[in-house]
Amino acid sequence: TGNAARTQSINKIVNRPTAPCKTVPRLEDMWAENVFNLTKMQASLPKNVFKSIKNTIVTGEKLDPTIADAVATAMRDWAMGKGALYYAHVFYPMTNLSAEKHDGFISVQGDGNVISEFSGKVLVQGEPDGSSFPNGGIRDTFEARGYTGWDVTSPAYIMETDNGSTLCIPTVFVSWTGEALDKKVPLLRSIAAMDKAANKVLKLLGNENIAHVNSSCGAEQEYFLVDANFASQRPDLLLAGRTLFGKAPAKGQEFDDHYFGAIPERVQVFMQDVEETLYKLGIPAKTRHNEVAPGQFEIAPFFEAANVASDHQQLLMTVLKNTAKKHGFVCLLHEKPFAGINGSGKHVNWSVGNSTQGNLLDPGDSPHDNAQFLVFCGAVIRGVHKYGPLMRAAIATASNDHRLGANEAPPAIISVYLGTQLEEVFEQIKTGSVKDSKKKGVMDLGVDVLPDLTKDAGDRNRTSPFAFTGNRFEFRAVGSSQSVSGPLIVLNTMLAESLTWVGDRLEAELSKGLELETAILTVLKEIMESHGQVIFGGNGYSEEWHKMAVEERGLANLRTTADALPVLKEKYIEELFEKTGVLTPVELESRFEVYAEQYIKSIDVEVKLVISIAKTLIYPAAIEYLSKLSGTIASLGSMGIDLDKSSAKTIAELANKMISTVDKLSSAYEKHGFASTEEEMQYYAQTLRPLMDEVRVYADGIEAEVADSYWPLPTYQEMLFIK
Ligand code: ADP
Ligand code: MG
Repeated sequence: TGNAARTQSINKIVNRPTAPCKTVPRLEDMWAENVFNLTKMQASLPKNVFKSIKNTIVTGEKLDPTIADAVATAMRDWAMGKGALYYAHVFYPMTNLSAEKHDGFISVQGDGNVISEFSGKVLVQGEPDGSSFPNGGIRDTFEARGYTGWDVTSPAYIMETDNGSTLCIPTVFVSWTGEALDKKVPLLRSIAAMDKAANKVLKLLGNENIAHVNSSCGAEQEYFLVDANFASQRPDLLLAGRTLFGKAPAKGQEFDDHYFGAIPERVQVFMQDVEETLYKLGIPAKTRHNEVAPGQFEIAPFFEAANVASDHQQLLMTVLKNTAKKHGFVCLLHEKPFAGINGSGKHVNWSVGNSTQGNLLDPGDSPHDNAQFLVFCGAVIRGVHKYGPLMRAAIATASNDHRLGANEAPPAIISVYLGTQLEEVFEQIKTGSVKDSKKKGVMDLGVDVLPDLTKDAGDRNRTSPFAFTGNRFEFRAVGSSQSVSGPLIVLNTMLAESLTWVGDRLEAELSKGLELETAILTVLKEIMESHGQVIFGGNGYSEEWHKMAVEERGLANLRTTADALPVLKEKYIEELFEKTGVLTPVELESRFEVYAEQYIKSIDVEVKLVISIAKTLIYPAAIEYLSKLSGTIASLGSMGIDLDKSSAKTIAELANKMISTVDKLSSAYEKHGFASTEEEMQYYAQTLRPLMDEVRVYADGIEAEVADSYWPLPTYQEMLFIK
């Protein structure tokens, strides 16, 4: 019966030998051991070559083709010295995954001998068969060629597996006509656009020496660990990454006893293994802890430049998954693997800054720094108000829809949380009361009203999708399985547009002969008057906010991906990306197509799973148990003993309802010929999803009635609590 396999799993897990204690190498010894970074380049390259490539890395300029061969040879020698026989151009297609094509260093000579070969040309450019990557119609398959090109600003590294090592080269992925087919190209463009706009504003603010402004990202990653024995018996976890069925266990997360509790030993060993791999890859893992839900954990590396952070984040997700396998776990990065307990997010901490002016979202402690901070912060506020729906679209996936809008994760309404103090400052700017306090002088605004904002750690609002946290913003609504590139592209781009506007406005005010500080206050006041309604410090989960946000403040509440993705087709969004040079209209359109298709495809998989699990696993279990039960009732009856029939009745009723709903779902799923992608997405959101949920209600009801020994699927209790 169903339970035998489950019992076997439990026995295997309980009797699992404890992993041997490994001696952890010194941090200094393993740090970036597998990265071909500047230090290793300096050691292996001729001086002039090293100087040239270092310059390229720092400025992001094109690589001098005449040095490519020398760099390639040094890189190959280093990689082969570490046992790599293959290299791969790693790229980041529009899905949230990373992709790679492996090639050997091997080259067969005319005499039948082989040599290892790796030229500058193959380092710099690759040609994977890109036809199978979603491109949203940019190329049809006849023009399937896509090129990968080394992103010199992100270092090459070695990926070690038990079956050998591969030299991995982070690359951009473009079509032969030059369109971006990936997430890296637009990210790099968005940083360039933001740099340009920030530079002008910094100049107007009186700075003379201004270095390249980059954006930074530190992403906190939440995930679940489930024993592989259980996961392999759950078709839903295997194919959809989440449970589509499962009765709530008697104990959930109500005691909060998991959060910051002691990390289970087996998990701790896993985490250390993950961290060792990350350190070798030069990824600065920094914090680890249990999360709120049972079986849920978090890892957060120290922040880095956005482009590198983004590549590292992709790598981190891969390392989590691979290492979990080694430890007999499955690592679930899905936003909502289990109903009824918290889902997983990815908090994207984001800021902008450079080496000359520092972190531009840090209030600083001189009046000048504070004024500069207010200008950048004001530009962010304006950006979030104008492009909030775009931020929502950037985090729209079928899986993240389960979080946003549920009362545990930030709402789908995008607002900004500033903290009481800073909110007050902006309020004062709006009402002009700052300007009135003449005796203090306008620029005193900084020192007087912005004390210690950075130490404002207690002043946290966990219900806000986008919160200022002292010296950066934290985009908390991002999904756990997502690439951080999408959200970063949107944040950088909207800031670029906003800073351009601020720059133009400041310039106009200054040309009227206004003093700098008065000009700043005038522009900030204008921002507050037109965009201040996006600031919200209250409870983002509350009914009142949802009403107020939409009805009084005119903010969008885009509940589902079907509601959010069409934002990408709006004229003002097209203009934003075109004006900033981040995405052409064709590139933007292709993104809408790819993301919409992904939404539909992931629900397709779930619908098919719901139908098959309900019919082939749950219904048979119900019938088998019913037959046992009814047989007993009948034979006892023939002896004149009356056995209560209510449980049998309940199961039969639920089984009937489940099957008739499955039938409804099956025929609803047959519908074809939608007038538009938008219409199709709405159908998935409004019709298919609710039917799936309804099937689940009956199935979970059956699970509550059927004898445990008949139940075929590992239960929530087992998956969440047995490690
Ligand atoms: P919390 O859980 O309190 O939000 P964590 O310490 O877990 O905080 O994570 C904070 C993240 O923010 C870390 O990755 C950290 O490196 C990152 N961070 C700190 N300063 C910046 C910054 N200026 N820009 C981007 N990220 C930052
Ligand atoms: Mg956080």
